[in-house]
This record gives sequence, structure tokens and C-alpha cells, in this order.
Amino acid sequence: MPLRVGEHLVHGAVVDAQTRCAHWHGPRDVLAIRFPCCGRWYPCHSCHEEAADHPGEVWPADAAGERALLCGRCGETSTIAEYLSSSTCARCGGAFNERCRLHHDVYFA
Ligand SMILES: [Zn+2]
Ligand SMILES: [Zn+2]
Ligand SMILES: [Zn+2]
Repeated sequence: MPLRVGEHLVHGAVVDAQTRCAHWHGPRDVLAIRFPCCGRWYPCHSCHEEAADHPGEVWPADAAGERALLCGRCGETSTIAEYLSSSTCARCGGAFNERCRLHHDVYFA
């Protein structure tokens, strides 16, 4: 069953109500991303890889204004530009896992 966060449904191996998943479930792993290929929210790239029937695509550089990040703490979305410029949620100020940035290239061009 997908997790409902606000008006959004988060798919994949979700393990709690703040979008932590089987792969990433530390205190700051409270971020889901919408994939451009299918428009679905997933907690991480591995969740998409396991659950989707197609390869994951990355957001192109000109998609910076897309609201593609979902905070599991407040249930609000952020744009790609907001996310890339800060390691905290633009809406509630909660911290995100900085290590997500190590995987930048699996999400963003
Ligand atoms: Zn997809
Ligand atoms: Zn995952
Ligand atoms: Zn937030």
C-alpha cells in the first residue's frame, strides 16, 4: 500500500509515515522525490528500481522549478532549486540527510 502524505501517495518500500524506507531510515531520511519518468513519489532511487516497471529517469537541469521533493515531516513540497540550495526543508526548516547529495546524479542531470 502506498503511503499517503497530504495529497500525495508515496510508493516503494516505505517503512514509516515520514517516508523513511527499507534503504534509508535514519533520523533525517524524511524526503521523498517525484520521478520524472512516471510522476510517482518514492523515498529513494532503490525503491523506484524495485517497484517500478521501467528505469528511473533524472530531472533535467531546466526543471529546477518543479516541486519534486516531498518532506515527510511537514508533508509539503519543495522545488528542486530550493532543495539543491539548502539541506533543510524550505517549508518547516527540518533537516534532510546531507548524504543524499552523494547520489545527486541518480536524481538530477
Ligand atoms: Zn518512474
Ligand atoms: Zn528506498
Ligand atoms: Zn518540511
